Amino acid sequence: MTDLLDPTTDPYWSAAAEGKLAVQRCGSCGRHQLYPRPFCIGCTSADLAWVEASGSGTVYSCVTVHLPVHDELPPPYTVALVELDEGPRLLGPVPDGVSIGDRVVAQWRQTDERPVLSFGRAS
Ligand SMILES: [Zn+2]
Repeated sequence: MTDLLDPTTDPYWSAAAEGKLAVQRCGSCGRHQLYPRPFCIGCTSADLAWVEASGSGTVYSCVTVHLPVHDELPPPYTVALVELDEGPRLLGPVPDGVSIGDRVVAQWRQTDERPVLSFGRAS
């Protein structure tokens, strides 16, 4: 994972390697954010800390992909924009049949290169 080492994003990938989803939390306004930045996008404070997110979220939007783009994702497959309970939205593949408003939970698959994020149905 040497190509991913960066002081701003390293905590995210380190957490991912342990199967955890980490987000930044602003110590000034309390907002959570992801992707990682050196300042808060809500109040511009640099008082940021990494916290473990619940991993739970709601599908905000989704699309079914019909074109092959990667060997590990044979089409058709569905990608969702998931709004985490903490607020940030991020993309990831979801099981077939998932639709807007469904509850999902983050899951990591460890690989030789880097952890890969996807979302499963919340139980
Ligand atoms: Zn803030």
